Formats: sequence, C-alpha cells, structure tokens
Amino acid sequence: MTDSYQAALARSAAIEQRLDDDPGSLRMLTGDRPTGALHIGHYFGSIQNRVKLQQSGAEIWQLIADYQVITDRDMLGDIQGSVRNLTIDNIAAGLDPDRATIFTHSAVPALNQLLLPFLSLVSVAELQRNPTVKDEAKSAGITSIGGLLLTYPVHQAADILFCKADVVPVGRDQLPHLEQTRVVARRFNERYGATFPEPDALLSDAPLILGLDGTKMSKSKGNVIELRMTADETAKKLKGAKTDSDRVITYDPAARPEVANLLLLISLCEGVAPEQVADEIGDGGGGTLKKRLADAINTELAPLRARRLELEQDTSYVSDILRRGNERAGEVAERTLDEVRERMGMVYT
Ligand code: ATP
Ligand code: MG
Repeated sequence: MTDSYQAALARSAAIEQRLDDDPGSLRMLTGDRPTGALHIGHYFGSIQNRVKLQQSGAEIWQLIADYQVITDRDMLGDIQGSVRNLTIDNIAAGLDPDRATIFTHSAVPALNQLLLPFLSLVSVAELQRNPTVKDEAKSAGITSIGGLLLTYPVHQAADILFCKADVVPVGRDQLPHLEQTRVVARRFNERYGATFPEPDALLSDAPLILGLDGTKMSKSKGNVIELRMTADETAKKLKGAKTDSDRVITYDPAARPEVANLLLLISLCEGVAPEQVADEIGDGGGGTLKKRLADAINTELAPLRARRLELEQDTSYVSDILRRGNERAGEVAERTLDEVRERMGMVYT
C-alpha cells in the first residue's frame, strides 16, 4: 500500500468520525460522467456513501459531469438520455432532490471560469504524471492525450471547490484527482489568502470493484452490471464473469482477485464476511458463486429498480430537478467566483 493511499484512508476515517460527531458540518460534492448507466461499482464505491451523508444531514451536491464526456472520446453520444439516466439512477438509489442539488456543470458558467486561475496553479509535468489520466487514455485507446483530458483533474477541482465541498465520496481511481484538488486549494490559499477547504475523499469498503473481465468496472468498458438491468440480465451477465480454474472457492484478494471481487460483492449485499461466504460455497465452484451473487444483487437492487421504473414514467420530473439544481449551482458559483476575483484584485467597479 502506498503512503499516499494510506494517508487518504486515514483522512477518510477522520471523515467517518465527523459523520458520527457533527454531520451537519459536512458539505459533499461528487459526480459521475454521463457516459452510460450507473453500475454496481458506483453503487458500492460511492452511491451508498452519498446516501449515508445525505441521511446524516450533510449538504449534498451531485454533479453530472457532462463536459468530462469529451475528455476521452470525440462525440457526446446520446447526452440527453445519459444525463436523464444518471439523474434517475441517483434518485432511485436514494438521493432526495429536495435535499440534494443535482446539476450539470456545462450549465454553470461561473464554475467553469474557475478553471482559468486554477490552471495557473499547476504545471504540465504534474498533470502528465496523473496515473488516472494515463489509465483512462489507455482504456479509451487514445495515443495522444488531448488538452481537456490532461486538464480535467483541474476542472474537477473547480467542480469540487466552487461550492467549497469538504468531502467527496469516490472510488479509489479518483484519489489522484482529489489530491490535485487539494493541491489547487492549497496553492490558491497560499497565493491569495484562505479561500478554499482542502477536501477529503470518503472511501467505501469497496473502493475498487472489478468488472466481468477482471479489470476496473467502468461504464465505458462494457464490463458492468448496470443498476437498471433486470434480474435475468444480471444473472446472464454474471455467468460470463471471469474467475479461475480452482473449483474450491477461497477468499484471497492478492492471489485470486476475480473470485475475491465476487465474494466481496456477495458480502456487501448479504452483510456476511467474504471468508464465510467462501467457506459456505466450498467446492461448489464458480457456477455456485455466480448464482449466489446474482441472487444477492437482485435482492439488494430490487427496490431501486422498482423506483427507477416509476421515475422513468414521469418525463418532466428530471428536467425540473436539473433546472432547479443548475440555478442553485449557478448562484453559489457566482458567489465563489466573485470572492476569487476579489482575492485576486480583479474588481473594477
Ligand atoms: P467511465 O468509464 O465513463 O469513466 P466510470 O464507470 O469510471 O465511467 P465515473 O463516472 O468515472 O464512472 O465515476 C463515478 C464515481 O464512481 C467515481 O467516484 C468513481 O471513483 C466511482 N467508481 C467508478 N467505477 C468504480 C468501481 N469500479 N469501483 C468503485 N468505485 C467506482
Ligand atoms: Mg471513470
């Protein structure tokens, strides 16, 4: 485990403590790219924590990061449909639009303008070192990294800092980006005076769920179990999940990552330790493991899926939520941008 991962885990544990002691003091922002429907990696990696923060009384900002779609691909695809689906997924999973501000960052100009001063605080070399940017370019098959992909961790700093969020529930892949946000906040504060908090990641017990092929589960990789799949589709997809040739099921994340990932998912759904699930399955093999996981996921997601179907019927519901969210985000972003301009001495009236 690297030192920076350990430090992130310690800060995440401190956030858990604040969640117990003083949840009302927390402000959360997190986001998803509208590149496809949400999957169980999102659910266990981030969404459960979003809902937990909301239920505890934290202030909730949920971003739909539409500009980020064109960081690693040329076209936006069905952006209207993807944004709608993401919004419905989040609400079906438990975000309450009366308590959470759900917004798309392309509709909030003042947020995007923060990118300009923030870009002056980072070097090209440090952007080029970001391991998540490199991984994303690799998975998208990109050989030459575009300007938006290179700078998107800085854009993400604008996403998080415009509302001065201090907690960001994310999966492990986002830690380098969050570190970049912390650096941007620190450098801005040093240069222009205390303005921004240095936000912390809130990590879940499953910070990196693997997909059906054994690599990180990602919307854009086609290796996912989507939240909106039917029970049959889920069982069918899981049948194709990669395991290994050893028939006896054991929980050994280092030596048997794919099997361990499936056991962890069962454990998260059923609330039973993964070692115990492995013992129970014993020499039942991959088939038994996958069948038990399909049942566990289908039970866990049944209420979400039912809510999702209801929400899909109401066509104006999502646009009303986004209109309200974008308006609120716009007001807060304007306020922060005014403060930034003031700190920088760029006020001319
Ligand atoms: P894409 O392939 O378009 O990048 P993605 O599946 O990686 O999609 P994002 O929208 O980039 O999803 O990520 C949204 C949030 O979900 C982030 O906080 C990210 O860390 C978390 N997340 C995504 N995939 C996983 C995963 N496999 N395990 C745990 N958390 C995840
Ligand atoms: Mg991603």
